[in-house]
Amino acid sequence: MDDIQRFLAHAIQLEKESARRYEELAEAMQSLGSMEVAEFFRQMAHYSRLHLKEAMQRGGFHDLPTLAADAYDWPEGTSPEAAAWAGVDGFMDVPGALALALDGEQRSCDYYRTIAADAEDPEVRSMAEAFAEEEAEHVAQLESWRSGLAKG
Ligand code: ZN
Repeated sequence: MDDIQRFLAHAIQLEKESARRYEELAEAMQSLGSMEVAEFFRQMAHYSRLHLKEAMQRGGFHDLPTLAADAYDWPEGTSPEAAAWAGVDGFMDVPGALALALDGEQRSCDYYRTIAADAEDPEVRSMAEAFAEEEAEHVAQLESWRSGLAKG
């Protein structure tokens, strides 16, 4: 991944999916009556959209870039977000939702880290590093929510 526009198109797709998943999770938590967790997921959706905007500005995109489906190059064939959600269906409780969100963030973080490690283009490398760091913060936030639950 040594083309900054291409890298950003991937990041944009990832963040778009992430925002949508968080909104779905927020809805699900709200319907369970877990308003605090729902609010947290809404915040995370908000950050994903900010991140998406930032990536669009950096890439100079005015519209969402659309690569043909086969022009995306994901490690698992689908974006890390979609991979985290594969096989999820039906009822989700609070621990399940947090575990799922954590899995998505972890995969996204690993994805950016791998790109940063492999990229020869310094711009791609530094941007992927910055994005990996943001994802690592999200991982930490989710972990602290999970340990809060464990303590009751
Ligand atoms: Zn994230």
